[in-house]
Amino acid sequence: MTTNTTAATTDTLTPRPAAIEVHDVHKWFGGRPVLDGVNLTVPPGTVTVVLGRSGSGKSTLLRVINHLEKPEAGYVSVGGEPIGVRRHGGRLKELSERAILAQRGRIGFVFQNFNLFPHLTVLDNVAAAPVATGRLPRDEAEDLARELLERVGLGDRTGAYPRQLSGGQQQRVAIARALALRPGVILFDEPTSALDPELVGEVLSVIKELATGGTTLVIVTHEIGFAREVADEVVFLHDGRVVEQGPPELVLDRPAHPRTREFLSKVL
Ligand code: ADP
Ligand code: MG
Repeated sequence: MTTNTTAATTDTLTPRPAAIEVHDVHKWFGGRPVLDGVNLTVPPGTVTVVLGRSGSGKSTLLRVINHLEKPEAGYVSVGGEPIGVRRHGGRLKELSERAILAQRGRIGFVFQNFNLFPHLTVLDNVAAAPVATGRLPRDEAEDLARELLERVGLGDRTGAYPRQLSGGQQQRVAIARALALRPGVILFDEPTSALDPELVGEVLSVIKELATGGTTLVIVTHEIGFAREVADEVVFLHDGRVVEQGPPELVLDRPAHPRTREFLSKVL
């Protein structure tokens, strides 16, 4: 396995080449291991698809990468910087809340249920974070939001409220919102699972476009055809462990592990 480290620049608006490294991460809930020694290296600009049955720890893994959960052991680094900890005389020391927020600002997160602000227009949903974090003045944030909404095919819906949109449109707004912080990494947690089948394609095609654009993506999904098309690497998680990983043509077409075979026979 290769390790990619990239020096952070001081310009917070420049998208950084980023890599994720998950190093021997253990996470427990209620006396039960949910992540049981997970190792994962995601090179910059690549797409990793995470598969696994319900309860295997996929969401917890994304939440640990994004600082929403703190592992009991091990650590995660994004863009070469350890998340939640810093090196201090050879040891790892906890980061301040402020530093954690700064790190989280470099990672976009797209949830299964969109999580848009219901009381804000589509434009404001996308413009809010760059303004709130002081990265852009409001007029520039709105220009950026219009540009991003255009990119996800919603340039004509900037004044709408989330409840006026379909699920597929709401998820595309959520993707534009994640892009507004110009993250080096975007994590997707089952981005199409809450959608009616006819709306899945429009969201996957937006993600596919990002995949070719050089952003590092980690996508939890059960859409195997999509995984085959976009993934550089497929990771199969079972009971909190990575039991199989590799290029899609290996993991999806010639899985070695019985659990992967069983899973694929059910979802395909
Ligand atoms: P997946 O996304 O693969 O379905 P999750 O990461 O959501 O799996 O959950 C893995 C296991 O951890 C499940 O058994 C779940 O019930 C448990 N779990 C997740 N989050 C919590 C939590 N905050 N408190 C207690 N148990 C949790
Ligand atoms: Mg989940």
